[in-house]
Amino acid sequence: MNNIPRSTRWKNLKQDWDLIIIGGGITGAGIFNMAVRKGYKSLLVDARDYAFGTSSRSSKLVHGGFRYLANRQYKVTAESVRERERMLHEAPHLVYPERFMLPSFNTDHISPRKFGVGVMLYDLLAPKWDHQFHEKDEILQYCPLCTSPDVVSAWEYGDAKVDDARLVLRLIQEAAALDGTALNYARVISLARDQLGQVRGVVLQDDSGSHLPEQEVLAKVVINATGPWSDDLRGQLGREPRLRKLRGSHLFFPYKKLPLTHAITMFHPRDRRAQFIFPWEGVTLIGTTDLDHPREWEGKYDETFASQAEIDYMLESIHHIFPELQISQADILATEGGVRPVVNTGAATPSQESRSQVIWEEDGLLTITGGKLTIFRVMAAQALNAVSARLRSNPHFDHKMKVFEPLPKPSGSLEMENWSYLAGRYGRNVNALISESPKKELAPIGDLPAQWAELRWAARHEDVIHLDDLMLRRLRLGLTCKDGGQPLLPRIMSLVQKDLGWDDKRWETEVKRYRRIWSNYYSLPNS
Ligand code: FAD
Repeated sequence: MNNIPRSTRWKNLKQDWDLIIIGGGITGAGIFNMAVRKGYKSLLVDARDYAFGTSSRSSKLVHGGFRYLANRQYKVTAESVRERERMLHEAPHLVYPERFMLPSFNTDHISPRKFGVGVMLYDLLAPKWDHQFHEKDEILQYCPLCTSPDVVSAWEYGDAKVDDARLVLRLIQEAAALDGTALNYARVISLARDQLGQVRGVVLQDDSGSHLPEQEVLAKVVINATGPWSDDLRGQLGREPRLRKLRGSHLFFPYKKLPLTHAITMFHPRDRRAQFIFPWEGVTLIGTTDLDHPREWEGKYDETFASQAEIDYMLESIHHIFPELQISQADILATEGGVRPVVNTGAATPSQESRSQVIWEEDGLLTITGGKLTIFRVMAAQALNAVSARLRSNPHFDHKMKVFEPLPKPSGSLEMENWSYLAGRYGRNVNALISESPKKELAPIGDLPAQWAELRWAARHEDVIHLDDLMLRRLRLGLTCKDGGQPLLPRIMSLVQKDLGWDDKRWETEVKRYRRIWSNYYSLPNS
């Protein structure tokens, strides 16, 4: 991530770290970024790729969450909508504003008036005043596909969306540029404890295939930010599991099949769960589900995925709101499943469990989990303040501190739209990316906003260990292209093979691995 070869970073692990952060999802990335910015020597490690876990599998919304309002979780909503406003301001072109329509159906359990109260409350908590009511005949102007005869009116309001994996990568990259050290494919296999049983470090195993020696690494503070895996590390301290793992899935359609100018929030006709349908990265995304994650899937599968029942459930939503569209399973480009780390309170249904973040300090190990992508700064500041007594000069972390470097001025001859897209994703490196790239690569990949030049840049500078890191998380081609982008692989090979240092045999092995991962976890079941 910071242009220091991975093997050198591994060799340099024997240092007195201030913090070791376990988990390179949004929670770990936020903590890492804030700690490095305050001058603390910090190491972030992830057992798989950065953002491999839930943080590349979210609904990609930077939002307050209407259903939290419905569940009266006002604090989560208020915190979230305020953070949304700050991120729109501080991370332009990475976090995008999005207009949503919230239609009322004559079969709904909630009246349009009540929806209106919700929308107003949502705005008041931000605070802003940015909603509008539409009568039935106006709705078609904004959403021509919305032909359901059951729709009676709609509220329009503003929220925001993001490429979740790129948000994580930008936070990690900017911290690494400020002297933080990040390593993917570096698994914590055990916790190192002193004579009093207090956690003082970790034992790291290299899972990149480079056969680097196992290392014990010590720090003043060790933070467990492993999301749905948090209980595994806590289990090493003999602690009882506290999480209820809730799965959620998404479907991706070609934009042409489901062309929306306004995003939609709706409630599923069967169980009234909130559903979102919106344009994202050149395609249209729908999500999500909220189910208990079957225990028997853990250990059996390497990644989670959308089940047939979840696909049917989401198609049902689409048919309900767009009855004339006649979209079917065959139209789906890709699928994705993720697991939420939620604290188990034994609530009757998954959707009733609180999404609030929690912090546990156990034998010197600080665990932070729960919460949301949107409030990562609030979570990071809370985690760091909980351990600040163990850090030099007992710092206070304010969640309003800067975590994104401001963008540079545009340079080069790229169209503003393309420059902005790259700037949001690569921050201050955008102009270096442009100057390093052959002109013909500074062009969109098909109909997508993603550009060819990103592939070469990622291969050179972004710790790509496997082809799936490149296809699923550096760029999102596995979700946005037909067959997971496999037809593009010959061209991609010509762009990245040299920088990745892979010979033809390794390339073939990586292609086989990617095909297997994509067809097992990101395509349709049994396809
Ligand atoms: P993760 O992203 O899962 O990261 C944990 C990391 O720890 C992983 O990368 C894993 O590889 C690593 N790890 C595990 N064990 C080890 C080990 N032994 N050593 C080293 N590393 C290890 N929030 C929003 O704000 N907006 C949304 O729209 C939204 N939608 C969602 C939709 C779904 C379906 C789900 C499931 C969640 C959604 N959320 C959303 C919530 C949000 O995505 C999560 O709260 C957040 O991504 C959790 O991030 P995390 O960093 O805590 O965990």
